[in-house]
Amino acid sequence: MKITIVGGGFTGLSAGLSLSQNHKVTLFEATGELGGLASAVKLPGTDWYVEKHYHHWFSNDYFALNLIKKLGLSEKLLFPKTLTSIYYQETSYPFNSPLQILFFSPLPFTDRLRLGLITLFLKLLSMNSGQNLEKHLAHEWLRKYFGEKVYEIVWKPLLFGKFGKFAKVVNMAWFWARIKKRTLVLGYLEGGYQTLIDAMEKQFKKDGGKILLSTPFDTKKTTDYDKIIITTPSPIFIKMYPQLPKDYKERLTNIPHLHALNLLLVTKEKILEKEYWLNINDRTFPFIAVIQQTNLVDAKHYGGKHLTWVGNYLPEGHPYLKMTKDELLKLYLPYLQKINPRLNSQFLILNSQLFMGPFAQPVFPTNYSKIKPDFITPIPNVYLANMDMVYPWDRGTNYAIELGQKVASLID
Ligand SMILES: Cc1cc2nc3c(=O)[nH]c(=O)nc-3n(C[C@H](O)[C@H](O)[C@H](O)COP(=O)(O)OP(=O)(O)OC[C@H]3O[C@@H](n4cnc5c(N)ncnc54)[C@H](O)[C@@H]3O)c2cc1C
Repeated sequence: MKITIVGGGFTGLSAGLSLSQNHKVTLFEATGELGGLASAVKLPGTDWYVEKHYHHWFSNDYFALNLIKKLGLSEKLLFPKTLTSIYYQETSYPFNSPLQILFFSPLPFTDRLRLGLITLFLKLLSMNSGQNLEKHLAHEWLRKYFGEKVYEIVWKPLLFGKFGKFAKVVNMAWFWARIKKRTLVLGYLEGGYQTLIDAMEKQFKKDGGKILLSTPFDTKKTTDYDKIIITTPSPIFIKMYPQLPKDYKERLTNIPHLHALNLLLVTKEKILEKEYWLNINDRTFPFIAVIQQTNLVDAKHYGGKHLTWVGNYLPEGHPYLKMTKDELLKLYLPYLQKINPRLNSQFLILNSQLFMGPFAQPVFPTNYSKIKPDFITPIPNVYLANMDMVYPWDRGTNYAIELGQKVASLID
């Protein structure tokens, strides 16, 4: 068959790898590079690529780990020890392990116990029971079962920080999946995610696949191919095919998406002393997380410089999305200095880059499984495979790889 794949992110590359041995496959990518939301840049004077948006794998991301093995990259896989903390009332509290939760002093001891026990309960829930939580709103369930104090101090700032005006729409199955999936150790590849992207590209081409970069797919050519797999976010798919039936378009449009906005800072010293990941549980801050890449891997891979993302998820039309990197830095800096007062003098910001990931986070309302899009679309021979379908799991390259393999086997 003559197959086209639209989008060179992990879903498109994975589908391409699965199909290229037996079919004539062409992959169209609108930008000049592969990797999509997981694409990377190489900063001047550095050995490794760094992702535009922070990335790591969990130790149970089996689709990603199996692919890494299959492509002969296992030796490059790293699982360093990392620390996640919560920033609350001008203090960073370690929040990695059950023991650390027991020492989380902003909560009375009984609430810490409750936090630990309900978290454990969610972690142990079976797939079926977890998915059944989709009939509940996350904010209501969390308040009811964790209690007012835990909700206000721990979960509400995270939920509202990430989803903003959509926070009260998110269902509890999505939240459950975040807890279920999380592992203590986090994985990364020597050279960055780019190492895997390069290996996928190499194998795809070796099997006869063709890649067209900087080439948005022209839908007028749809009938030139036997099958077409679209891996763009749903809002882009709807625009590509205006002839889609109204009710189908409405169904996809009803899934809200947030854009990711990450400011990557290159500094002389670390901004976060110990943490890889710092959740900001203070909603007066203009960002939701600070991620210190050089507490995941050694700064020597980046020419001895330190890399930090200041992260946000924002709805369409948010004023921050229109700001330049210098304007954002000016806005963020006083808050970063609250986290690390020495930032001004010692950490001289050497460089910064701003990255926007369009439609990077779908929002899953209650009973989402009933409206979840299918691979098969109303347009004959046109298939859709994107992150709106990995539910209840949170989007990630692991699921993009799985999705690519699944849509490929449907077509095969
Ligand atoms: C802030 C952030 C943090 C993340 N953290 C992690 C993490 O820690 N671990 C992890 O595994 N994953 C993480 N992810 C998720 C991961 O990057 C994505 O889930 C995954 O890359 C999705 O891949 P995809 O191929 O489905 O979509 P995308 O990566 O969005 O790829 C779609 C591709 O389609 C292309 N395209 C769009 N329109 C057209 C067109 N008309 N013609 C041709 N091409 C087109 C786009 O340019 C893009 O390359 C994170 C994502 C973000 C935004």
